Amino acid sequence: MLPESAERKKILSHATSAVARFYDQLRDTAIMPEISTAAVRARLKELDFETTVSADEAIDEAMRLLVQGGLLSAHPRYFGLFNPTPTFMGVIADLLVSTVNPQLAAHNHHPAATEVEEHLVRYLAGLCGFDPAAAAGSFTSGGSEANATAVLLALTRKFPALRAGGMRALAKQPVFYVSAETHHSFVKIAHMCGLGRDAVHVVETDPDLKLSPAALERAIAADHAAGQEPFLVAATAGTTSAGIIDPLPELAELCAREGLHFHVDAAWGGGAVFSERLRRHLDGIERADTITIDAHKWLSVPIGTGVILTRSGAGLHETFSVDTPYIPRSEERSTDYLHAGIQWTRRFAGLRLFLTLLTAGRAGYAAMVERQSALGDLLRQELRARGWRIVNNTPLPVVCFTDPALDSRPPDQRATALESLARQLQEQNNCWISVTRLRGEPVLRACFTSYLAGEEDVRGLIKGVEE
Ligand SMILES: *Cc1c(COP(=O)(O)O)cnc(C)c1O
Repeated sequence: MLPESAERKKILSHATSAVARFYDQLRDTAIMPEISTAAVRARLKELDFETTVSADEAIDEAMRLLVQGGLLSAHPRYFGLFNPTPTFMGVIADLLVSTVNPQLAAHNHHPAATEVEEHLVRYLAGLCGFDPAAAAGSFTSGGSEANATAVLLALTRKFPALRAGGMRALAKQPVFYVSAETHHSFVKIAHMCGLGRDAVHVVETDPDLKLSPAALERAIAADHAAGQEPFLVAATAGTTSAGIIDPLPELAELCAREGLHFHVDAAWGGGAVFSERLRRHLDGIERADTITIDAHKWLSVPIGTGVILTRSGAGLHETFSVDTPYIPRSEERSTDYLHAGIQWTRRFAGLRLFLTLLTAGRAGYAAMVERQSALGDLLRQELRARGWRIVNNTPLPVVCFTDPALDSRPPDQRATALESLARQLQEQNNCWISVTRLRGEPVLRACFTSYLAGEEDVRGLIKGVEE
């Protein structure tokens, strides 16, 4: 399993050449898959592991499947679903971490790696306006796990009987609130927590698609009257479809008044806290009890890097700690992540963000999110100038738009027309945008997810759309 030293260097050099070539050729590579699923299956049939290939051949095989066998979401003209071009130092971090393979379940297994992640958690917490000394949290596999952590924590704090007795120990059905624009991970989370999917109460949005505090207040009162027990509100700072930021100060106020856990899902939009200019759009986030930030979205590190932040350490330990005779307890005042989150064996995912921050700094991220937001503004302006209608209202770089000429057609026909436009862009212009629905209406959606995108890419997109 381990080649000898000279051979190791040769293989590494082959792999690093492949990585360097990937970045060199990225702009000129097709975004759409070039190998069909049928061809992938046929190839896999040949690979039965009874014969072997050289390491170089294996690397080439993998790169071919990776680059040509699926959507190339790392491409600068992938205006898609928050899947970024990974930062180069994030890529390097993966190689280093995989090599040493530290275990982050318990502090005493790897104090340095655990301390790096705690340092990052406190840093991000500080940027969000939490007191870094009091805040806690952990890296997660992504936003879904971070949101699940928040719901479990809120449940455990609100219903102490649940820890031992489960849902059946509770007299009333716990329910929580989202909007129709909230990420659907909460549906799975309600199922996984044993709450049941009906425990997710969808609150009306206002005309700008923001969760309405007035409608929320009415829903809470109605649920109390019906004998249910509200425990959490999940606001979103940067919704998945339209980049909408819910009215965080008003929702924080309402949660404080009603004694509800206030969670802010800033999986993508949380990147804005790095910019002094954009941070104000997230005002009120500092009043959250818990915050989700996905470093693998706007912060552009490789996939598998989410973060859950909690205002204080209280609750995490009650929720996740267990007695483990085979894992020695660490000294006090250090975090054993196995007792503070869902995962057990943990990868040192935080190094991806650490190395990117060490080299780019806060200013590097600020410049990145500001540049992408400016590109969003430019796209909106150019589309409007050409008669397209922008249908979402956000300072973040997600642009949802439609052609007013389609207004007279029925929704199904509109959807077909927009889908075929998106497909043509993908096939003929090497630009990837998607179709989503807002207020039930089909619209085109373009999001700036790659830090490599520039004005020439906005022009390329406009040109394709006009054609
Ligand atoms: C992407 C996203 C999630 C889910 O995060 P994963 O990293 O995909 O698990 C949750 N909430 C929002 C707002 C998102 O955009």
